Amino acid sequence: MKNFAYVRATSAEDAVQRSQTTQNAQFIAGGTNLIDRLKVFLDRPEQLIDVSRLDLKQIEATTEGGIRIGALATNTAVADHPQIRRDYPLLSRAILSGASQQIRNMATVGGNLLQRTRCPYYYDTVFACNKRQPGSGCAALEGINRMHAILGASDSCIAVHPSDMCVALAALDAVVEVESSKGRRQIPFNDFHRLPGDAPERDSNLESGELITAVILPPLPFGKTGVYLKLRDRASYSFALISVAAAIDLAGETIRDARLALGGVAHKPWRVPEAETFLKGKPATVETFQQVAEIVLQGAKPLTHNSFKVNMAKRAIKRALTISAQGGGVA
Ligand code: SF4
Repeated sequence: MKNFAYVRATSAEDAVQRSQTTQNAQFIAGGTNLIDRLKVFLDRPEQLIDVSRLDLKQIEATTEGGIRIGALATNTAVADHPQIRRDYPLLSRAILSGASQQIRNMATVGGNLLQRTRCPYYYDTVFACNKRQPGSGCAALEGINRMHAILGASDSCIAVHPSDMCVALAALDAVVEVESSKGRRQIPFNDFHRLPGDAPERDSNLESGELITAVILPPLPFGKTGVYLKLRDRASYSFALISVAAAIDLAGETIRDARLALGGVAHKPWRVPEAETFLKGKPATVETFQQVAEIVLQGAKPLTHNSFKVNMAKRAIKRALTISAQGGGVA
């Protein structure tokens, strides 16, 4: 680990101002991913700005009927919140499927959005990695790429986004609120993370000096039917091979509306608007879910070691939608 200066911000404005007056400064809150990266020299900040004590922990109902989650609310606080458990159970289940209780107690919502891929070649500095060092190559292309992307990848990077929470937030049409010296702006969740293209070193569209202050969930009347299904190698403390966040609104046996997002398949949570449009007005049957799974996986490009993910994703979509159509619950 390289030496760095440490300061504690007194307010969001103070944090933003400090980040702009110090070269190569980084914010730290729970530190559950950043500390790992510091230890192996992936990040080499001159200064860490500790934002963990800022007044950004509240989780509160919005006047529109949604919920506003402060960026420093812990994963545990979000997963356990009564309104979230009642109205957005797929978010609660997604969080509880990730990491360990100890990590969830430390990790924050803002940090969860900014965690970086767990591609092993990114963390091992012996290997070429365009995300770590742009232009150096991608060892995963010819390496063990069982955990890597089947959708939206590029010749520069085939990494997947590791977060469960973010898959749920994508399905729930969340909005990310950020603050900078230019004021506040809101970023629709699906515009927050990026596909790798030829710049895999950039995971998100957050600009330099911007601090995440909150994540806002709009109301979702059929949120109670939400399901989060995570398929992985071990029953706990393991990243997703495939995950699905799904919610269905039924009028009798007919689908009125639907939400669907996938994890473990791409550099960002994967949402296919055409698939949700396809579902509207269709009968809630296994055949319909089979058809929509084909639409979602259209264009999948599996790698040497992960072709199993294509069928696994199709089956997971079918199962998650079926459970949601039956009223939701644990997948
Ligand atoms: Fe690096 Fe991305 Fe290649 Fe992994 S997949 S080695 S993160 S460039």
